[in-house]
Amino acid sequence: MENKSTIFFYGGAGTVTGSNFLLDGGHSKILIDCGLFQGEHSFDDTNWLPFPFNPGEISYLINTHAHIDHIGRIPKLVKDGYTGRILSTEATKALAEPMLLDAMELSRRTAEHIGKEPLYDEVDIRQALSQWDTVPYHKVVELPDGFSVEFFDSGHILGSALAKFTRAGKSVVFTGDLGGGNSPLLSLCEIPEGVDYLVMESVYGDRVQKDRTNRLEDLGKYITDNAERGGTLLIPAFSTERTQDLLYEIRALMTEKKVPSVPVYLDSPLAEKITASYLAYPQYFSKAMQQRVQGGEHIFEFAELQYVHDAGESRAIAARPGPKIILAGSGMSNGGRVVGHEAEILPDQKSTVLIVGYQAAGSLGRKLAEGAKQVSIKGQKITVRAHVDTMYGYSAHMDSEQLLAFAQQVGEANTGGGLREVFVVMGEPAAASFLVQRLRDYVGLHATAPTAGEKAEVAV
Ligand SMILES: [Zn+2]
Repeated sequence: MENKSTIFFYGGAGTVTGSNFLLDGGHSKILIDCGLFQGEHSFDDTNWLPFPFNPGEISYLINTHAHIDHIGRIPKLVKDGYTGRILSTEATKALAEPMLLDAMELSRRTAEHIGKEPLYDEVDIRQALSQWDTVPYHKVVELPDGFSVEFFDSGHILGSALAKFTRAGKSVVFTGDLGGGNSPLLSLCEIPEGVDYLVMESVYGDRVQKDRTNRLEDLGKYITDNAERGGTLLIPAFSTERTQDLLYEIRALMTEKKVPSVPVYLDSPLAEKITASYLAYPQYFSKAMQQRVQGGEHIFEFAELQYVHDAGESRAIAARPGPKIILAGSGMSNGGRVVGHEAEILPDQKSTVLIVGYQAAGSLGRKLAEGAKQVSIKGQKITVRAHVDTMYGYSAHMDSEQLLAFAQQVGEANTGGGLREVFVVMGEPAAASFLVQRLRDYVGLHATAPTAGEKAEVAV
């Protein structure tokens, strides 16, 4: 007789953020990711709502990667009564600590705004970290109720994993986020074998990215054009992966003298900590990058780079004359130091805001990317005269074509009969349903896009 499990799609269904799934095996409840809702939910009480399950009844928590929309509610889960173990790769745990401390600060501001208690405090974060175990890729870990789990490299950020759960020979994979091979630092996404069910992301499910082979050249052109105009090139950068990819490539352009030498400010204490964690776990880089780091190359160091620590220093940079580059978070401009810089430079026609990642609906970054001519920052109306451009080449996600190819390859890698069903999640509704349609039409897969709160039975 076949086993039966139920997957509950609690978060990251019908939306990109808030990743939170439950695999109920009958005698165990395994949670996959426990992320914050972001974008339009950054300023409401969604993250404060009680979990739709009893945290005390969860048997195990598996984490795919350290982005805050995948880990940001873990301390709340612990605060609300979860006493079990947490499992991720070593790099994910290392990145999680600074990420959670940062999220705690941001959520404190939202808490004040909506008149709630803070979501959690540092004690809850420390408690979560004390329950947190690590395992390398490809090492099978036994879980309750006859399940086992194995992590595969998903090529999205340092230590990111797709999690394959197996019971009695049947498997379901939760992809977390899937990297599209754009990082100069990471390996390509692996294809796990013998997968029967797939719960896959669809952030760019309806978008095909432009040819990315000229990315370095394009970045060089933005730097050069901006330097010639004497403006500020402001890059709202996610602290994890995007910042390190950019530092690595700006370093290459400057050391090889392909662009003018201008000051580069990394104005994000969080990104600085994350960069240090990257260097502490070189075993999660691609083989080629591991060799370079082990050979003594300082892949993120160059003469023009300056780290900005306190907020006063951050404000002073904007007043400094002459061309410059500023990398600051948050990546979606929904908080953090980048917003202060945007207030300064958006009215300046010499300057450029260069968007390099996914911008959630409702975020300031999304409004800018969509060509807003006027935005509101901290209650002030700001007219946009600066250049605002988007570069897709730094995307940490697979595009629609790659997602399709990924599902097809996972299907082909199950020689016992291919994929039985694909659940498309972590995308805006249009992106998810577009990918569902393509999976049906082009790959012939049984695919659906569950909405939040739905459940599905699987024979695992
Ligand atoms: Zn992610």
